[in-house]
Amino acid sequence: MKHVQVLIVGLGPGGGSAARIAAQAGLSVMAVERNRAVGEPVQCAEFVPMPMGAYTRPQGVLYQRIAGMKSVLPSGLEHHSDFPGYMIDRARFDQAIAEAAAEAGAELRCHTRIVALHEDARVARVSREGQDEEISYDVLIAADGPHSTVARLLGLPALETVNTRQYTVPLRREYFDTDIWLSDDYPGGYAWLFPKQDRANLGLGADRAFEDDLKTPLEALRRQLIDEGLIGEEIFYRTGGAIPVGGLRDGLTHGRCLFVGDAAGLTHPITGGGISAAVVSGERAGEASVAYLAGAADAFEDYEEDVRDQFEATISRAVERREFLNRHWRTQAARQDETMRHGWIAFPEYFSPTGI
Ligand SMILES: Cc1cc2nc3c(=O)[nH]c(=O)nc-3n(C[C@H](O)[C@H](O)[C@H](O)COP(=O)(O)OP(=O)(O)OC[C@H]3O[C@@H](n4cnc5c(N)ncnc54)[C@H](O)[C@@H]3O)c2cc1C
Repeated sequence: MKHVQVLIVGLGPGGGSAARIAAQAGLSVMAVERNRAVGEPVQCAEFVPMPMGAYTRPQGVLYQRIAGMKSVLPSGLEHHSDFPGYMIDRARFDQAIAEAAAEAGAELRCHTRIVALHEDARVARVSREGQDEEISYDVLIAADGPHSTVARLLGLPALETVNTRQYTVPLRREYFDTDIWLSDDYPGGYAWLFPKQDRANLGLGADRAFEDDLKTPLEALRRQLIDEGLIGEEIFYRTGGAIPVGGLRDGLTHGRCLFVGDAAGLTHPITGGGISAAVVSGERAGEASVAYLAGAADAFEDYEEDVRDQFEATISRAVERREFLNRHWRTQAARQDETMRHGWIAFPEYFSPTGI
């Protein structure tokens, strides 16, 4: 049976980052990814905030810079805020991280998924085109996204998620803001238009507890923007996917397993942004694996503590704001600007302790 020191499940930004750090430290690393190619299909609006700048440098990753954010309230009132960042080619972004991991010696296996786990023996069964193989490991890193198979195999609860739907459309003029629409038409979520040179990602998210049909509101917004002359008729690409919105898992570690990124519930429950948290937690999980295998018995506890220190306060606030909004969707209050201002990061009310 093949043995690796670190087995990583999922090669999104979380898994790729963990693989890179662990391999660069000289550990034997294998990462399995169920898709045929890293980064594809893209299920992302492709915005990363300013601090991720260093990760946009590899060839082909950066589309354009973003200066600010325009938040549109239910009344139509527009609010502009500084919100600098970058629009990225998300496939290239994930691939560049994975390439760095491979260069450092990690073995990356695409079209391979984890199907079973013998936790006590620390053996995982992976499958590629019907061919199963058992791999033994010292540390397991679950970087397998919002519907983590590893969590399910360990008997841990599934994360609460919202659904999204997105089109890539032609953009008729240069644009440097991310546009956000806050409305009862998108209950439990919002709509967005993120520019990438002559194209834009136009999408929305909604909580299926309030709304199952994402197509009708997305078509309505698309039609409105075509009529306003901002976007063209074509749809180049359709995507969607789940976003965890319930906050952090109760435990970010389980035995010899570390959870990172979406699998850990690190995505921001209001904005849905999770790339940066996936990279940061992936890197920290790689470092924790190195420390643990070098004899630091408390390396996993340190991982849990560090990640919570960095993300928990922000995510807990977002969970609270989500709960607040969930009490108002599909009522008159959700059609009032004031309510939406409490639930969106661009407004001071969002950060006010007595705001809600
Ligand atoms: C429509 C949409 C738009 C978004 N827009 C943004 C945005 O603009 N900015 C932002 O910061 N965040 C955005 N997000 C969130 C962001 O995409 C995630 O937070 C991020 O991808 C998390 O990275 P990850 O590595 O944890 O997980 P993922 O990127 O989901 O990677 C998990 C990987 O694990 C693989 N996998 C799953 N199960 C198995 C298995 N059993 N065996 C092997 N492999 C498996 C998957 O194929 C996948 O490649 C968006 C999400 C969606 C759905």
